[in-house]
Amino acid sequence: MTVAVVLFTSDLRLHDHPPLHAALASADEVVPLFVRDEAVEAAGFGVPNRLAFLADCLRDLDAGLRERGGRLVVREGDAVEETCRIVTETGAGTVHTAAGVSSFAHRREERLREALGSQGCGLRVHDAVVTVVAPGAVVPSGPDRDHFAVFTPYFRRWSEEGLRQVFRAPRTVAVPEGPASAALPSRDGVREVSPGLAEGGEEAGRRLLTAWRRDGLAAYEERHDDLAGDATSRLSPHLHFGTLSPTEVVSRAREAGGPGGEAFVRQVCWRDFHHQVLAARPAASRTDYRARNDRWRTGRAAEKDTTAWKEGRTGYPVVDAAMRQLLHEGWMHNRGRLLAASFLTKSLYVDWRVGARHFLDLLVDGDVANNQLNWQWVAGTGTDTRPNRVLNPVTQAKRYDPDGAYVRRWIPELSEVAGPAVHEPWKLPESRRSRLDYPEPVVGLSEGLARFKEARGLD
Ligand code: FAD
Repeated sequence: MTVAVVLFTSDLRLHDHPPLHAALASADEVVPLFVRDEAVEAAGFGVPNRLAFLADCLRDLDAGLRERGGRLVVREGDAVEETCRIVTETGAGTVHTAAGVSSFAHRREERLREALGSQGCGLRVHDAVVTVVAPGAVVPSGPDRDHFAVFTPYFRRWSEEGLRQVFRAPRTVAVPEGPASAALPSRDGVREVSPGLAEGGEEAGRRLLTAWRRDGLAAYEERHDDLAGDATSRLSPHLHFGTLSPTEVVSRAREAGGPGGEAFVRQVCWRDFHHQVLAARPAASRTDYRARNDRWRTGRAAEKDTTAWKEGRTGYPVVDAAMRQLLHEGWMHNRGRLLAASFLTKSLYVDWRVGARHFLDLLVDGDVANNQLNWQWVAGTGTDTRPNRVLNPVTQAKRYDPDGAYVRRWIPELSEVAGPAVHEPWKLPESRRSRLDYPEPVVGLSEGLARFKEARGLD
């Protein structure tokens, strides 16, 4: 009887899972293993919204395996040590896992290879599980070019790559009797979860994908920036936890085609783009990808502004609406993320790392590659080819929330202000304004812009 182990990480699904597919094809029995790694949780990634979503994912993965005659084995501790223990308990000959992108994942892979090697067990690391195209598989020509720093040429080359085969979910999964599992975590056991947090798990993800293809995708190109319309896929948490395969998502969007399908695939490519930047420049999760010699504001006034930003009380309604959506749902519309991040880093001139940390504390899709590199992009320290652009929250609000419905949805204090006037409450007559429990702007836009320009040495 041959046994293989599948170590699940950011790929909590049964459909289109190359490591599981390979393990089932080569061994009689498979141990589907997930290790709740203390190091991941201690490194600031064990935040309530993602722990609650993860609990849903693990329960659903276990349920899917049980329907196929198997079960999930959950262990707690160090991923490498626990995997080795399972190998000893079952006599497994190979461990299959998905290639990771972060430096943490790379270290885990190296340690696994070494530890398993000394036990006489093989390790197969599968590419194109977490991303569509493996980081490093598409690189610019010329020497010393290990990644693309500009999105458009990357997208062109990425689009030319063929998609690998999409695997069906297995019909049966035979799991050896022996290895014990820790109890599955439950969402109810996690405190301080955002009240509107989405449901996790592969089944929920597949339902969402089917509904999205049927009802949302075709209009994505025209509607993706409509804040109130909420017309994006909301697939990001599922892509983050791997309850949906990015290859399958792209393959289904390409089948649907049309301008909506094309625009959507391009957006998913941004995810691969940031992953390949991080894989080549792991330090970009903490340090400027392109230093601009910023001397970000610190001290009492900056802290006060940051607190107002976090609480959704900056006095700029569209920024505040976005920040309150984040608090309530653990998710934020992309246009809201752009506006909130531009406001913090440019209008308030506060370090992008402060904002990125706050997002990582709350976002259910919060992910080192996408979060840190999008923050850097907005702050102008990343890959944006126009690093000094500043988004004006009023102009943007009028364009992407023309009637003000998004603002009224998230800011009850402004719910009585009709139409686009809601974007500039400071222009309301004093008698009305004083009755609203809503703050004055923390900074004038021209003042913030002048401060930013001076700091960056622009005229
Ligand atoms: P859709 O518009 O339906 O797009 C489909 C998918 O494409 C998304 O699910 C996502 O996987 C990918 N995608 C879309 N836009 C981007 C982008 N700009 N960069 C990378 N991938 C993208 N996304 C995360 O997944 N995790 C994060 O931690 C994260 N932090 C961000 C922080 C800031 C400051 C900004 C500006 C953007 C951030 N994004 C992040 C990217 C983007 O905002 C979200 O992926 C998107 O809003 C998720 O909603 P959706 O699934 O409905 O997206």
